[in-house]
Amino acid sequence: MDRRRLIAALGAVPIALALGGAKKEPKRKDPPEPRASRRRKGAKPPAKHVDVAVVGAGAIGAWTAWHLVRAGLSVRLFDAYGAGNGRAASNLPSMMLDPVQGGDALYAALVDDSRDAWERLSDSASLPILTPCEAVTALAATDAVADSRGADRTTGERLRGRFTQIAWRPEEAVLHAAKGAMIAGRRGVLETILDAQIECEDIVMPAPLRDKKQGLYRLPDGGTAQNLVYATGAWLTELFPQILTPARLSAVRQQVFHFGPGQGDTQFRPPAMPAFVDRAYGFNLLPDVEGVGVRVWKSAPDASVDPDSFDRRADIDAGARALADARQWIAARLPRLADAPVVASAAAHDCRTSTGDLLLDRLPGQDRVWVVGGAAGRAFALAPAIGARVAAHVQDAARPIEPRWALARLTGV
Ligand SMILES: Cc1cc2nc3c(=O)[nH]c(=O)nc-3n(C[C@H](O)[C@H](O)[C@H](O)COP(=O)(O)OP(=O)(O)OC[C@H]3O[C@@H](n4cnc5c(N)ncnc54)[C@H](O)[C@@H]3O)c2cc1C
Repeated sequence: MDRRRLIAALGAVPIALALGGAKKEPKRKDPPEPRASRRRKGAKPPAKHVDVAVVGAGAIGAWTAWHLVRAGLSVRLFDAYGAGNGRAASNLPSMMLDPVQGGDALYAALVDDSRDAWERLSDSASLPILTPCEAVTALAATDAVADSRGADRTTGERLRGRFTQIAWRPEEAVLHAAKGAMIAGRRGVLETILDAQIECEDIVMPAPLRDKKQGLYRLPDGGTAQNLVYATGAWLTELFPQILTPARLSAVRQQVFHFGPGQGDTQFRPPAMPAFVDRAYGFNLLPDVEGVGVRVWKSAPDASVDPDSFDRRADIDAGARALADARQWIAARLPRLADAPVVASAAAHDCRTSTGDLLLDRLPGQDRVWVVGGAAGRAFALAPAIGARVAAHVQDAARPIEPRWALARLTGV
């Protein structure tokens, strides 16, 4: 071996030793691919002549359109301000699906179908639409609960160990449901419309204009529809002022405050924290999801408003009544949040009928025009089942109206 080859061979020894002795590097996984495009099939351009024009793209209108499309009907969906607009009652970030519905069997019967529909939608969406959580209702002394389906009747005392964040009153009666849920509000509406594969058109629909010759309803852009569904909530009064006077149906204001727990504090998030309907004190609470804080609002509205023009800021000046009341309630019920800052707030409207029930009926003298709205405080979460009922009426004109939802209950005729 010549000198050069000897040096080269000696030089290689430590390297070979080092290589032989070295631990094998763990094989690197390929980095994840960027997400594939999940764009759904684009909505078909709307036909000008359709079986049904649905007016109002809030939760009820969106789900009505969804069911009608699934039933094979041609549908157009209109909204004066666009889908998911900031004036709609459905625009809040989150809503409660309360399985108990205050023990009212008529509404409790809508819960399961609605829950399944939101769950299916949530499973196909990129971000969750439905977040499961438990739900508790603290009953007022005068509450007579006819139907506590889906919930156990218990006492606050017994739930003390399960929900340590809540200060229970001695002996208070409570309904505890394992299968409550929170539904994403605005996102839920937009996702429903996407899933229905229709487009929401920014069209302001006036009161119905019937073309007697053709037996069809005229639409503002020259199109026609065989049936009209006005799912315009609080705007029904504006559209049909003779029938739906403000005494019968109105927009009412409620102020919403989000209290922010401290860093890393997860006790106010599901599954630790339930949705809480406090009938004893007249407050509601949704747990903290997506870091938006615990949402608190009073059950009773504080004013009647015009849904087009009222200011959607909550009153948070020092001494503001609504905030002071919410704080007082928080301090009494969730003492660990007594000093939590308000991280978001808003004023929102709901649509209330004089009976507190949903309105779902034909417009008098127009057997192919439907009006739907109301059911304050619960219509968002129940919108899949309400939309299914509206779609069933459109397809079967002889289907009897639910007496509690009849227009006559509001008008007295
Ligand atoms: C503080 C607060 C908390 C609530 N919490 C809950 C909850 O936890 N769970 C729950 O289920 N519900 C809750 N609600 C109730 C819920 O927000 C409403 O019941 C629900 O969103 C009503 O939906 P909607 O489709 O009937 O009406 P909206 O969402 O108001 O939709 C009506 C649509 O009609 C459109 N429109 C009006 N006029 C016309 C026209 N002429 N032409 C075209 N479009 C028109 C409007 O632009 C609007 O988009 C709450 C309400 C408030 C205020």
